[in-house]
Parts: sequence; C-alpha cells; structure tokens
Amino acid sequence: MKSPLRRTARSADAAPYEVRVFGDPVLRKVADEVTDIDGKVVKLVDDMLETMYAEPGIGLAAPQVGVQRRLFVYDVGDGPETIVNPIIAESRGEWVYEEGCLSVPGLFWEIVRPKEIHLTGSDLDGNEVSIEADELLARLFQHELDHLEGVLLLDHLDDETRKAALKTLRERYADPTGSPSRTSTGGNGLSLP
Ligand SMILES: [Zn+2]
Repeated sequence: MKSPLRRTARSADAAPYEVRVFGDPVLRKVADEVTDIDGKVVKLVDDMLETMYAEPGIGLAAPQVGVQRRLFVYDVGDGPETIVNPIIAESRGEWVYEEGCLSVPGLFWEIVRPKEIHLTGSDLDGNEVSIEADELLARLFQHELDHLEGVLLLDHLDDETRKAALKTLRERYADPTGSPSRTSTGGNGLSLP
C-alpha cells in the first residue's frame, strides 16, 4: 500500500523487483498458501522489503512482485514486519481513508473499509501472530489481503469512479513513454496527488 503521507517520487535506486502494475494478470490471481518457510521465502521477503522501501511504500504483497504466495511485508514506522498466510478473523466499524497502491501508481481514492480488524497468521519464523489493528494498520492489512485475493483498489470504487479510473489508466499505459500522468480521474471530489 502507498500512504498518501509519503508521496515522494519513485526512487532511482535499483530495487530487486519491479512492482507489477495494473494490467499485469498476476495481480488478478488468488495466491497460494505458504506451506514451508524456507530460504527461498526468506530471500523473497528480504527482496520485497527492499523493493517496498525503494518505491517507497508502507506495504507490499507477494503478488505485486509476481509471486503467487500468501504473504506480505509492511512498515508503518516501527520497522519491517512480515505476515505469512494472513487471515482476517474479525472486522468492526467503518472508516474512510485516502488510499493508494504501488500497483496503481499515482492515483488515490477515499475508500470505506472496516476500521478495526483482528488479523491472524504467522511471522517469518513460523510463530503464530494475532494482531488487533485499527485505522492505518487495519487499512494496510486489508489492502494487502486484497492483493492475495486478486483484488485491487479499483474493485472498491463505485461504477462511475471506476470507469473514470480505468480511462485514466488506459490512457497512461497507452502512452509510449510510459510516464505516469497526473490526469485527474474527474468528478466525485477525489483527492489526487
Ligand atoms: Zn496495493
């Protein structure tokens, strides 16, 4: 997930992975359980963290680097964390927040989601984790979980907003220079960078 609080330009540093962007079919697939946390998974997590910090983002799910496994990394300012095979055990309330995604770069939308969630899963050592999260952290967990289900932010928009967003994205990726545009998605009072 990209935080609206960190809208700095993409880093020129070479990250281990290129973040997959809208249109890449891997973003629409349901990821598989991680059955064994071996050296490959540890290396994947290291590389995902490096990629996330280079963007910069505050969360990154494995499908965003082309790996169909149920894990994500995040850092909301308290250091890097990894959740393997995450499950939302419970969710409560409702919270609107402006949300962006490294796979849909440069676009932000106000999206309604549950305010608090109870997340379970395991850490990179295979220990069970159980986290009560609210607001930004709860939002981040739900966003990354969506990626494991092949769901993108666009799926949370109303029809009109989604149509406008798709138009912007189509225009952008039809641009041979591939440079991200700052085109407004128009209407609905959307706040854009
Ligand atoms: Zn995302």
